[in-house]
Amino acid sequence: MKIGEIFATQVFNDAVMRERLPKKIYQSLKETTRLGAPLNQEIADVVAAAMKDWATGLGATHYSHWFQPLNNLSAGKHDSFISTTRDGNVVTEFSSSALVKGEPDASSFPSGGLRATFEARGYTTWDPTSPAFVRDGTLYIPTAFCSYTGEALDSKTPLLRSMQALNKQGLRLLRALGHNGSRMVYATVGAEQEYFLIDKEKYEKRLDLKLCGRTLLGAKPAKGQELEDHYCGRIRLRVASYMTELDNALWALGVTSKTKHNEAAPAQHELAPIFEPVNTAVDHNLLTMEVMRVTAKRHNLACLLHEKPFEGINGSGKHNNFSISTDDGLNFLDPGQHPEENKLFLITLCALIEGVDTYADLIRMTAASPSNDHRLGGYEAPPAIISIFLGEALTTMLSNITKGSTAGAHSCSNLYTDVDALPNLERDDSDRNRTSPFAFTNNKFEFRMVGSSQSIAFCNTVLDAVAADVFSRFADRLEKAEDLELEISHIISETICNHGRILYNGNNYTQQWVEEAQKRGLPIISNSAQAAEAIVNPRNVEMLESLGILSSTECHARYEIHLENIVKVITMEAETMQQMVRQQILPSLTRFIGDTAASYNELAGAGFENAQLHGLLEKLSGLLSAIHCESVALEALEHTDHAVFSLKELANYMTDTIRPQMHALRTACDAAEALVASDVWPIPTYTDLLHRI
Ligand code: ADP
Ligand code: MG
Repeated sequence: MKIGEIFATQVFNDAVMRERLPKKIYQSLKETTRLGAPLNQEIADVVAAAMKDWATGLGATHYSHWFQPLNNLSAGKHDSFISTTRDGNVVTEFSSSALVKGEPDASSFPSGGLRATFEARGYTTWDPTSPAFVRDGTLYIPTAFCSYTGEALDSKTPLLRSMQALNKQGLRLLRALGHNGSRMVYATVGAEQEYFLIDKEKYEKRLDLKLCGRTLLGAKPAKGQELEDHYCGRIRLRVASYMTELDNALWALGVTSKTKHNEAAPAQHELAPIFEPVNTAVDHNLLTMEVMRVTAKRHNLACLLHEKPFEGINGSGKHNNFSISTDDGLNFLDPGQHPEENKLFLITLCALIEGVDTYADLIRMTAASPSNDHRLGGYEAPPAIISIFLGEALTTMLSNITKGSTAGAHSCSNLYTDVDALPNLERDDSDRNRTSPFAFTNNKFEFRMVGSSQSIAFCNTVLDAVAADVFSRFADRLEKAEDLELEISHIISETICNHGRILYNGNNYTQQWVEEAQKRGLPIISNSAQAAEAIVNPRNVEMLESLGILSSTECHARYEIHLENIVKVITMEAETMQQMVRQQILPSLTRFIGDTAASYNELAGAGFENAQLHGLLEKLSGLLSAIHCESVALEALEHTDHAVFSLKELANYMTDTIRPQMHALRTACDAAEALVASDVWPIPTYTDLLHRI
């Protein structure tokens, strides 16, 4: 299979548009897609007709306004191209208005109070900056989704607004620094996606995986990830054939799937694409998750995108690699050979240091979800504290500049292996720190807190916003500066002095860091219920509102959606757990104890009284009681009168009271699992799930 022959064959991309659209129309559309110029409505007719012809040529019978409601998924209804004629026949048709505008029911998606059930109207609007594509007989048109009253009900609209803000402030900054060639500034993003693959039949037998995406019960297996033999190890043939089909499907959709490998935990894998402008990176990541799930079914596998499907081994994240670029290929975060003299690089670095320190709580919130709570702060994932890793070389360089020295950062040392036959390599300026939540890696920052099941739209909206906010302040100063160099060195000194506390190059997984962070006054936000507050924090609301990214109403709606989601997810988990315990665990365990007791009596009757067996029976019957008690206690907590709580109190109650009780119930069940015969335990074990693929 030649990649070139399948790549983007299902995409209405630049090449297709150039071929199928009249030159003038093509150029006008190009101004919009490349440079964000306002869409010329007159071209929509021509584009719609060309899109329909192209899509039906690929077998499409339907089109769908593809949008991103606030549930980390994508959605859309499917309309066929048919239309009736007066003489009773049908023709295929796709008008400009069908391309540009759709009207899904807005009340059936999370709206945080923006839409009541009786106020159903919502609109989808074509986003010409992300290409349409054909999949399974449907033409998908990327769209933004808003309410009748104009508030954003999706994750794309604020992202597009944040791109405009960053473009505006980024261009100002460039001009102030004397770069006049670029016409457009935008964030570039490459999202590394982690996932688990398990056998479908075993998955089907676990209600927790099916309903909640994670195991709510399960004793520690004899082999987890202790031997470190899975990371980048040989890929199982079954998994390899899944990955091949996945790559082909993604390539056809124009997704630049680049790297695949086994991850640290057994049954865990990763896929990374080549980075691209943020809007398409977000759409492509959503598409990747969707294709991952569907492809797994065809291979009799289940793809788990949950942040923590299994306790005791690594969870899954989504490393969001982020930089800022221009249409003419400039990377703001490329240090170059002489970073100490690279004004754009230094200013961008300072802007992100100031921005990440100032809005740390908001950035933390973009990675907060009830499922990611189980992962963040675990030994394999960044802690719930935001800090920045720059590496020794850059940190020293910045500190030298504040002391008036221009000593370079680039040491350009070589790496010698002491084997003559091996080539000598140039060593990177800094080692890698994989424990930092926000790490500088070569020419980009890697935000590692985001969860594997989350859309990357919101974190990038906030990163765009934060950069735009500080860029605008720096641009104000630089535009007015009489001595540009001096002003830049002032900015660097002030940044290090006022925001240096956010820099940390050490091991973020240690308790020592938590204590250190506390001393530095960095926010430590340990769960998603606490993290929610950031989106209604007046400082953050003001910033988002002043940049035109989210209004105060939209921020408050998002706050409600976030809290409601916590309550719904934990409620569902508690109920699923209860159902498994009562319908599967307790009956099996009771039978096993009964059978074992009968065997014990039989043996004793025959004169073979067995003290060990008696001991086992005692333990098991103790656990049976414990499971009963913990389950009853959980039920009592679930049924406390919730009406007295505000939404915030309820989210905290679910997090701080229901969750620990679920943990207590799990502990008793897992202890029992470890003692009973394997053919008796009613659900697949961790060993079955992780090692029998
Ligand atoms: P790593 O060593 O972190 O694995 P890679 O070069 O493999 O580094 O990059 C990881 C991800 O970062 C990839 O998706 C890659 O395309 C992306 N990436 C690289 N450069 C940039 C950039 N300038 N902006 C955004 N993402 C980038
Ligand atoms: Mg990486």
